[in-house]
Amino acid sequence: MHFEKKDFLGRLIHKVPIFRSLKVYIFVLMLIIGIVPSIIMRIGILQNYEERAVTLRVSDVTTQYKIIANHLLNYNYLQDTSSDVINAELEQMSNLYDGRVLIINANFRVVKDTYAISEGKTMISEEVIKCFKGESTSRHDKKNGYIEMTIPIAEQVTVDGEETSKVKGVILASASTDSIVTTLEILSRKALILEIVMAIIIVGIVFFFSHILIRPFNRVTQAISEVKDGYTDEPISVPDYIETEHIVDAFNQLLARMKVLNDSRQEFVANVSHELKTPMTSVKVLADSLNGQPDVPVELYREFMQDITEEIERENKIINDLLSLVKLDKTEAKMDISTVDINGLLETTLKRLRPIARKRDVEVVFESIRPVTAEVDEVKISQIFTNLVENAIKYNKEHGWVKVLLDADHQFFTVEISDSGIGIGEADYEHIFERFYRVDKSHSREIGGTGLGLSITRNAVLLHRGSIKVSSVEGEGTCFTVKIPLTYIKAGGMRDDRS
Ligand code: ADP
Repeated sequence: MHFEKKDFLGRLIHKVPIFRSLKVYIFVLMLIIGIVPSIIMRIGILQNYEERAVTLRVSDVTTQYKIIANHLLNYNYLQDTSSDVINAELEQMSNLYDGRVLIINANFRVVKDTYAISEGKTMISEEVIKCFKGESTSRHDKKNGYIEMTIPIAEQVTVDGEETSKVKGVILASASTDSIVTTLEILSRKALILEIVMAIIIVGIVFFFSHILIRPFNRVTQAISEVKDGYTDEPISVPDYIETEHIVDAFNQLLARMKVLNDSRQEFVANVSHELKTPMTSVKVLADSLNGQPDVPVELYREFMQDITEEIERENKIINDLLSLVKLDKTEAKMDISTVDINGLLETTLKRLRPIARKRDVEVVFESIRPVTAEVDEVKISQIFTNLVENAIKYNKEHGWVKVLLDADHQFFTVEISDSGIGIGEADYEHIFERFYRVDKSHSREIGGTGLGLSITRNAVLLHRGSIKVSSVEGEGTCFTVKIPLTYIKAGGMRDDRS
């Protein structure tokens, strides 16, 4: 239930653009910070005022009635209520405080009521009883707008030489709080007007600032748009905030990376065009020279046609290699993982390549430390072995050898392909995996290389989350070491659980 609610709220926030605006958040936050304290202050001060005014009124009225209580005793009013002086005084008091006064004697009988309603009646209430014990009480009835108080009519008597007060009667008086309420209303109205004026000013200031604060982010968007629309490809800079600086830095890095990618793409296209053009040029030259001669002997025709076929085959090989490379460049969704017998796969690969080795008089030896099975893409792993062994044969010497060594631990299997060939200079180590890179272009071309083999190999190794290393001594030989995990690890580091 709770999640559903949260989900609903999340969707609502996502759908209504205003809820996703930083400007709106800043606006609302500043508004709350600006206005809420003044509302709290208004309510607090007014409430405080009311309490204070009521307390003052109570103490004021109590003091007055305490004086009257003395008069009551002096005039023996509790026994005889005919005193005009006291009656006038009581009338005056009740008029002054817009209330009612009841005088209650020790028998709880009302001897005087300024409203003349309850005279002669008995009045027993909690407050009256309390008051007979010598305690003054007061109660504020907010709803009806009055304060009710009890004041003891106490006489000082001396009992056993000690002076104590004896409560003879009680004054039960009420006073209206209308004047307090009126003042409160006036104050409240004024405070509200002040608050509205303040709120208008605050809204203006907040609107202005929320706009100003958000401006650097708009500048970031504008700068990125300019790059996107092609007005500039220079790195952008919005140093106003650390946050904008971070966004811009990340964008500049992305821009630089895209430039590199674009450059390498352009270089790749240029290389591809060049590589594809070379065999075509040869074919054209061969065909032109045949066409240019009127009586060409059949043998020459055959020889030239043979050359043309070879060039077409080369063109075909380049195209096939390019297709493999493009396929490998794509995501690993294309990985077709299965459990493969690596020993068997290496043996088949070597069997296929032995005729080429024999032609070049190169001996191929396979040595396996232990039987290995691994979760790999069989086609791609086979391509890795073929390319490396083929290179070891191609770049070998007369009567040379190629040695393939297979080993494994509990995590990886390793294939070492070493040869007694021409070797690679250390400076070329990092370049040989680049597309179309060849140490000796003419030699590579001569033996049918495209410069794409090692690039394909490395991509296939990386798709298996493996590694490839090369070590070589020029003139003596080369050793490539490929290390591949026995269990396929998917992107994000998760192991494939298929058995
Ligand atoms: P190619 O199709 O030219 O063989 P590769 O990408 O397979 O292209 O290899 C790139 C270059 O690395 C080759 O042109 C060659 O100069 C060098 N190379 C690769 N393997 C070996 C090796 N075993 N011994 C010496 N040089 C090698």
